[in-house]
Amino acid sequence: MDRRAKIVATLGPASSSADVLERLLESGIDVVRLNMSHGNQKDHRSLMRRLRRLARKQDRFVPVIIDLMGPRYRLGEVAKEPRILTAGQEVFLGTRGREGDLPIGDPELLGHLRAGERMLIDNGLVELEILSCHADGISTKVVHGGPVSTRKGINLPDTDLPFTISEKDRSDIAFALREGADFLAVSFVGGPNDLHAIRAVLRENGGMMPLISKLERAAVLPHLDATVEASDAVMVARGDLGVELPVHDVPVLQKKIIAAGRRVGKPVIVATQMLESMMTQPRPTRAEASDCANAVFDGADALMLSGETAAGAYPVKAVVTMSKIIAEAEAYRPPSLEDFSDRQTAPLLPGVSEQVNINPELDRNLEIPDVVSAAAVYATHRLDVRQIVAFSQGGFTARMIARYRPRTPITVFTRDPAVARRLQLVWGARPLLLEDDLQHHDQVVKLVDRRLIEADLARPGDAIIILMGVPIPDRPLTNLMRAHRVRELDKTEP
Ligand code: PEP
Repeated sequence: MDRRAKIVATLGPASSSADVLERLLESGIDVVRLNMSHGNQKDHRSLMRRLRRLARKQDRFVPVIIDLMGPRYRLGEVAKEPRILTAGQEVFLGTRGREGDLPIGDPELLGHLRAGERMLIDNGLVELEILSCHADGISTKVVHGGPVSTRKGINLPDTDLPFTISEKDRSDIAFALREGADFLAVSFVGGPNDLHAIRAVLRENGGMMPLISKLERAAVLPHLDATVEASDAVMVARGDLGVELPVHDVPVLQKKIIAAGRRVGKPVIVATQMLESMMTQPRPTRAEASDCANAVFDGADALMLSGETAAGAYPVKAVVTMSKIIAEAEAYRPPSLEDFSDRQTAPLLPGVSEQVNINPELDRNLEIPDVVSAAAVYATHRLDVRQIVAFSQGGFTARMIARYRPRTPITVFTRDPAVARRLQLVWGARPLLLEDDLQHHDQVVKLVDRRLIEADLARPGDAIIILMGVPIPDRPLTNLMRAHRVRELDKTEP
């Protein structure tokens, strides 16, 4: 099935056996996430190694995201749990250890709290209002009651919290580098400085890797564009986002974050509760199916499965279901203004925006690789093109093409297996590894013809568009577009 938006699967107890992992790979997962909030490094290491072995067997590039726990606050040990809190009741949270108090897992949190702020427990199911703050705890009033128990998560949407990097996060960053993970997902990012702080820790550990900013705090929203710019990819982390902000804000924020990512060609992952009911049922709700399709319509690069693949009863079915929903959504072509007009041709420049359906905002401040990529997409609307082929050293050209969401498949040649893996997060990009040493662009054309025919991605006579940077030995950014018809293979050549 031809699918362009990618699937990220979170691995966990339901998907760690070789059998399930193998079937997940066969069903089309593109990227794997390991959530460091759960499990331990030893188990994550063996899971990564198992995954890599199986991916090699299936000849697949499957990147691994290590998702840091980040500054997540929790309750401590709750005696006689679950404690039921009722609206209007007053309760003390802190370190006094008196009967009836609720323990706080992270006492350093107390210094940041102020009277009048909200404290949300267990994904916002229980809401407290802080009445007064003391050295050893806080007095609160229950606004929405419910059960609370040991280690339940705490969200503080009104509190000005610093971004801190815990000892656990430092150890997990070192782990990610040691194990050669492909991306680091940074939880609770508040702005570009938090990413600089994570990069400093990476440097202290002698390495660097692409960062995915998890956008889940109200505090990051005023700095959205700068944060996207400072990230290598972003995630609409709807779980915490829907607790930190009113849940009715989430759909619009999803669209804004996706647009912000596309504007600068940074991949956007939409995450959390996408097929939640498949944790326990073999079929999703109709609302979940629509949610996945709408993430595709919004322009997401990737959709993420969390508990569905990590701890659910139907991990493989969840991937198959998501894959079908994405493919169906992508096959749908919403009617455009063009369908209702009798205009035969459009003027070239305005035509690019209209015909390729580019948001004019995407067209501002372009550099040479952007312009050449846009021209390639434009060409696919004038010529029946079978493939856009990009030669990409770091994945930049592929991202620039993908942000226009062309209908034509995008094949990306790269020399670096790490880049090939990272490209799996980019909408529509199909990476192929390039081993040949090329000097001239005529050699590139011959090689492309051979590899596309061998991989059954094109036939002789098909029109293709090739993008590259010339002169090749200098490895410049993309500056050349060549429109070409695939030639028969020369059988006399080795
Ligand atoms: C989220 O909050 O939506 C999210 C993806 O983060 P996590 O799964 O790590 O809680």
